[in-house]
Amino acid sequence: MRDLLFLGTAGGNPIQSSSTSILVEDDKNNLLIDAAGGGDLILRLHEAKRNPLEITNVFISHCDSDHILGIVSLFRRFKLQNKKRNIFCSKYTKTAINSLFKYIAKYHYQKVKKNLNFIIVKDKSRYKIGKWSLQFFDIKPKKTPQMGCIINFPDNKKLVFLGDEPLKEHYFNIVKNSDILIHNAFSSEKEEKIFKSHEKGHSTVKDAAISAKKLNAKSLLLYHMQDKKDLKSRRKRYTKEAKNYFKGRVFVPYDLDKYKF
Ligand SMILES: [Zn+2]
Repeated sequence: MRDLLFLGTAGGNPIQSSSTSILVEDDKNNLLIDAAGGGDLILRLHEAKRNPLEITNVFISHCDSDHILGIVSLFRRFKLQNKKRNIFCSKYTKTAINSLFKYIAKYHYQKVKKNLNFIIVKDKSRYKIGKWSLQFFDIKPKKTPQMGCIINFPDNKKLVFLGDEPLKEHYFNIVKNSDILIHNAFSSEKEEKIFKSHEKGHSTVKDAAISAKKLNAKSLLLYHMQDKKDLKSRRKRYTKEAKNYFKGRVFVPYDLDKYKF
């Protein structure tokens, strides 16, 4: 049994939640997918009763602020322990990290650097962490260079993280038939005109559900969502919309929600 802990469920510019950060963990292994938009990542970890020092693997999908800036606080925590950790990211994202720490938290970074094992991932790169098999893929985005990630677990369960742009044909074959599909949903279809999900290069709940059906996923988990309007009813509204297009399980988390699989 393992958990997905949603530390942040919002897209950019949230007002009531944290931005993207998801911790995948079992009793032997963990991987933090994205690092939210700032120091709130550490708050969220503490709220979830997790010690940031327990994190041993981090994957940064791309260097947009809502996915990466939490690494400043996270790396400062990592500095407190002399332990190696893997940081998976593309060459482009690594350049962004270098430029960030050139001035910000410079002295903390110099001390922690020796323990950060950067693994530069490319399209179709594969790695093992414990018994988990990771595969990365270039989503070939319209905006900032971005990688998606697939995790195959020893019990043959497959998790797919598609990044924050709509589904693209070129990686269709490697991401189909997943047990867990983590898909962005910038707004409901109903609110597309208000939040301009498509214009901003993201998906609506309807788009995410159609992707899940096309990809023959067993369950659809949404992230990168709106929190500006009717947050309380978000789970209900989004689940209802997704169910119109996808018959599998739908999970619409709030920050700190857990999904067991
Ligand atoms: Zn984003």
